[in-house]
Amino acid sequence: MNFCTGERLIGTMERETDNKRQTRNWILTGAAIAFAALAVVVCLLMRPETEALDRFVIRCGNGQSIEVPAWETRTIVIRDGRIVEKATGESGENVIRIENGEAWMEYANCPHGECMRQGRLSAESVRTRPLGTWIVCAPHKVYIEYAGGAQ
Ligand SMILES: [Zn+2]
Repeated sequence: MNFCTGERLIGTMERETDNKRQTRNWILTGAAIAFAALAVVVCLLMRPETEALDRFVIRCGNGQSIEVPAWETRTIVIRDGRIVEKATGESGENVIRIENGEAWMEYANCPHGECMRQGRLSAESVRTRPLGTWIVCAPHKVYIEYAGGAQ
């Protein structure tokens, strides 16, 4: 009689342990799925944000600098260290173009025009360009720097 009761009790305990283990497994599986889903959501949210932060910093030669988001389409004219409305071809002029995530020196009347030959600056090109993240017009002290959102 006592023996039988004892056996039944052990059987019940084992079943309870199994149930608990199963519950714990379900919780772990659920947590793993939730974590994976969260990671995907975070990646999706972060990606456009970092791209949106990509920008070009333009230094004009008089200490003034402006930042232009890489996604903007814009022409910036600098004459004698100042941003001006439009190009006139007068001496000391630089015309910077920003389009499709790229920036380049469209026109400059500096002595050698070296800055116009430095190519286009973009998130991709900075890895292979000799000057990296910079376009430099040394005679006019005009600099364009690519600043990535992820940095
Ligand atoms: Zn130049």
